[in-house]
Amino acid sequence: MPELPEVHTTATFLDRALRGKIITNAWSDYHVKSVQKIGIKDSKLFSVFSNKILGKKILSVTRRAKNILFRLSDNISIVAHMKMTGHFLLGAYRRKKEWVGPIPPTFEHEEWIPTERGDLQNPFNRFIRFVISFSDGTTLALSDLRRFARIEFFDTLRLENEFKKFGHEPLEKSFTFTVYKKQILKRTTGKIKTILMDQSIIAGIGNIYSDEILYSADVHPESNPSRIPHAELKKIYTAMRLILKKSIRLGGDSMSDYRKPDGTRGEFQNCHNAYRRTGKPCKKRNCSGIITRKKVGGRSAHFCPIHQKLY
Ligand SMILES: [Zn+2]
Repeated sequence: MPELPEVHTTATFLDRALRGKIITNAWSDYHVKSVQKIGIKDSKLFSVFSNKILGKKILSVTRRAKNILFRLSDNISIVAHMKMTGHFLLGAYRRKKEWVGPIPPTFEHEEWIPTERGDLQNPFNRFIRFVISFSDGTTLALSDLRRFARIEFFDTLRLENEFKKFGHEPLEKSFTFTVYKKQILKRTTGKIKTILMDQSIIAGIGNIYSDEILYSADVHPESNPSRIPHAELKKIYTAMRLILKKSIRLGGDSMSDYRKPDGTRGEFQNCHNAYRRTGKPCKKRNCSGIITRKKVGGRSAHFCPIHQKLY
């Protein structure tokens, strides 16, 4: 699932490319009965959504937690969460519509095909479920193999309230060590990995980065935060900021489905020390550990049982 660096990479790319563009069309083939009152997967809601955004201008594209936020003119915002396998792509696409099935054909099949050869044609980028077209002929497409992505629309003025549920942004200047420590120690029970991934405490960290942060800070994922010494708490804080920034520089992590909006891969997957390295030797100098996998709070934690100390 895309985490802070992947969502940041996508939002930054789209902000540069989409600012000022006018929406001329919206399309979706999610068409499932949705329980969300503001999501677009229900076809009735999609037509409301479509009517709302047609003719609107993109003012900015930003990130909050793991959400991408498209601010449009007339106080309308689209909020997208890429979930498991979703990622946005940007380029030139053509719509291919054909009738399939027995004769006479009964089922109309539509797909979006990139018009130029290149990374947008990569198999990981071919599951187009949602499309927005712009007046200059460019297309924003969402590839989402498992169809879990969430797209909602909001009155921009209501967004602040909607985002109150998210915790601190770990890369904000205001998120000092003192603020972080206070947040982490709010929970007297629980395990440090689970707490790092709790979106209401710190926003944007998921399975990959919590594993890498704790490996780097020499702290076992099952440690109780209140027992972690001050020096180690500081190591987690420093590692968190360094690792997230490093991954942003590398365009995020494409070990799984995530791709940048031009269809190319990020490179952070080449830097893993713990995540999905089960059974491999620890890379830390003079450490004889073997990376182990264990369920922590319902998620797979990858860690070195030798140098990552349990507190
Ligand atoms: Zn080790």
